Amino acid sequence: MHEMSLATSLLAILQDEVGKRNIIKITRIKVVVGEMVNLAPQAFRFAFSSIAVDTPAADAELEIDVRPIKARCYECGETFLVVGYVFCCPCCNSSQLDIISGNELYIDSFIAEGDQNNESERAKEPDEQERCASC
Ligand SMILES: [Zn+2]
Repeated sequence: MHEMSLATSLLAILQDEVGKRNIIKITRIKVVVGEMVNLAPQAFRFAFSSIAVDTPAADAELEIDVRPIKARCYECGETFLVVGYVFCCPCCNSSQLDIISGNELYIDSFIAEGDQNNESERAKEPDEQERCASC
């Protein structure tokens, strides 16, 4: 089952963070998933809650952000959203497409309660400063 294996990998990533950051409880998880992953949110939530029992993520609320499929035409260079799995350029009808997005699957963010939660929030700041300094 597709959703079960995805839920298992999601939980594994979270368990890893739990270990690193001394997290007691995860309250909310935001998952970004591309339309092409073809995830059934209901089945995914069910799979996740069934395997997360007895983990800090047991009562976590799962937010699933589905991203549309975006493609670029190799023939004319047009960039467009793929609607209804019609992989065809709206300008020149070519089916030679480069899929730019729609395949992604990652944890965007999660909210946790734990001893080092505040520190991990603070740890994000140097990253942003680095980014500003480089641009
Ligand atoms: Zn085209």
